[in-house]
Amino acid sequence: MALATGKQILDEAKKKGYGVGAYNVNNMEQIQAIMAAAKETQSPVIIQASRGALKYSNFTYLGYLMKAAVIENPDIPVAMHLDHGNSLETVIKAIDLGFSSVMIDGSLTEDGKTASTYDYNVKVTRSVVEYAHSKGVSVEAEIGTLGGLEDGVGSGKIHLTDPKEAKKFVDETSVDSLAIAIGTSHGAYKFKGAANLAFNVLKEIRALIDIPIVLHGASSVPKELIDEVNKYGGKMPGATGVPIESLQKAIKLGVSKINVDTDGRLAITSAIRKVFIETPEKFDPRDYLGPARTALASLIASKMKAFGTSGHAKDYAPQSLGDMKKLYATK
Ligand SMILES: [Zn+2]
Repeated sequence: MALATGKQILDEAKKKGYGVGAYNVNNMEQIQAIMAAAKETQSPVIIQASRGALKYSNFTYLGYLMKAAVIENPDIPVAMHLDHGNSLETVIKAIDLGFSSVMIDGSLTEDGKTASTYDYNVKVTRSVVEYAHSKGVSVEAEIGTLGGLEDGVGSGKIHLTDPKEAKKFVDETSVDSLAIAIGTSHGAYKFKGAANLAFNVLKEIRALIDIPIVLHGASSVPKELIDEVNKYGGKMPGATGVPIESLQKAIKLGVSKINVDTDGRLAITSAIRKVFIETPEKFDPRDYLGPARTALASLIASKMKAFGTSGHAKDYAPQSLGDMKKLYATK
């Protein structure tokens, strides 16, 4: 089995200077599509489930599907990651399910909607780090807040990360990777005008901290996909994202993990809408979920190539989680 922790995958990516996409999953077809893309491009991969996605699947269903992805792909390093965990309790549930990597988002309070204080963030992150590391699981935290909403999570207000505060936070929490806010947003409507990311802030943070940096809300919202959705009866006027060139620049400046959810949703939605409009007589779920799976696999493969992840699966020698436990015990 090629289960890897987020730390193993991201430390390696940071060392070699490429980005690893973390792709959100809710169902079997999404998981299969992402793994097919990883296999085709020989990329390490992070499959991530939000708290909302786990709840939707009664936790266990999605957990077992993600485990199947690991078991079916022994040559591909895969991290099973919890996206936007809101409490130690959620983190424990995910680790019990076999997750090898967790995010605790202490930039928001437990309701997932209100911005928290720095002290709260440190406290909740430390408690998660202590528990997760004892189980050999790595931890991502967040400092600063993004715009937009993801599964109902988010304060809706952008608050850029303060580089000095980020450095202090990493020192005080021993977290393994850090999500920062440099102007990206969750969802399909990220910018009113042109995309504007605070690369100067990213540069300052990179100079001060030594762990992998994570970018949330980093879908590109490609115009072709939006046009396709709208052409087949959708209604998404003015949707915008982060251009792939900006993401490549962010990777060069030190971002290692790039979260992508919206673009996958768009690929699936456009493929399903097309089937419904062009062949309204079809009613077998496989007739529309199959094309959705194919469309998603091709989108993810193009991301893996653009982020520089492709070809790097062979670089890793993923240890078992047991070994990771030892690794943390010696820390
Ligand atoms: Zn996020």
